[in-house]
Amino acid sequence: MLVYINGKFVPEDQATVSIFDHGFLYGDGVFEGIRAYNGRVFRLMEHVDRLFDSAKAIDLIPPVTKEEMAEIIKETLRRNNLKNAYIRPIISRGVGSMGLDPHRCEKPTVVCAASEWGAMYGDLYEKGLTAVTVCVRRNTPDSLPPNIKSLNYLNNILGKIEANYKGGDEAIFLDRTGKLAEGSGDNIYLVKNGKLYTPPTINNLKGITRHVLLELLDKLGIPYEICELGLFDLYTADEVMVTGTAAEVCAITKIDGRVIGDGKPGAVYRKLVPAFQEITQNEGDA
Ligand code: PLP
Repeated sequence: MLVYINGKFVPEDQATVSIFDHGFLYGDGVFEGIRAYNGRVFRLMEHVDRLFDSAKAIDLIPPVTKEEMAEIIKETLRRNNLKNAYIRPIISRGVGSMGLDPHRCEKPTVVCAASEWGAMYGDLYEKGLTAVTVCVRRNTPDSLPPNIKSLNYLNNILGKIEANYKGGDEAIFLDRTGKLAEGSGDNIYLVKNGKLYTPPTINNLKGITRHVLLELLDKLGIPYEICELGLFDLYTADEVMVTGTAAEVCAITKIDGRVIGDGKPGAVYRKLVPAFQEITQNEGDA
């Protein structure tokens, strides 16, 4: 596999970053997770825009333009002859001496790697995931703003660890006031009486798959509302599902031991999945 690193494509065993890169030392950097379907990058510019917004929010000036970054992402796919893939661009603060201060770093590091990737959850798209709500909270006064996709994913990982120990496939995060936020790497939705509900993006990452899903709801005439939701809404929903670049669209059929709806992926999910696949199979930049 060839990996882009600071202006060059090199074999993956030569794609090394200094241990003095502040991305490694402090998690000081930003990234994206992007999919390609049939050799085309899905929602490329939305991901590049979000990468640059994340960088701006941490006062990191990328050493490449958005257009160059988009080209690097497409070229990573091409050079590796990948068709259905997961692509990971990263911009870190760069190499500097020890000490937190970003001024110690001269130039940001830019990396882009990709690998062939199919469905993340296998047969669980048919069965539905088991999820647990976790102790770690999103968007607390002292936590990182959830809209920065930074290299510091430890809160999400702590949630995932808790979910693993409790036998869940995915972790569900609440925010500081107990409102529903999101999953460890995906946005969350519930359906009640034929209407879909999802939390506002103030307490979660503004998902690009979420954007696709909302477009689909409009197209299919499925009513939806963006509003604050709590555990009661989740437990009493007819359907719950998550969306993300990695997870795509996946139903959740059990939360904290409670069966959701009739315990099977529901009617709205079954309508959305083929419509979502239709879009992913036919869109994208090559
Ligand atoms: N929420 C979190 C915390 C994520 O890491 C992701 C994945 O990027 C998402 C939501 C879903 O966002 P997207 O659909 O853009 O992949």
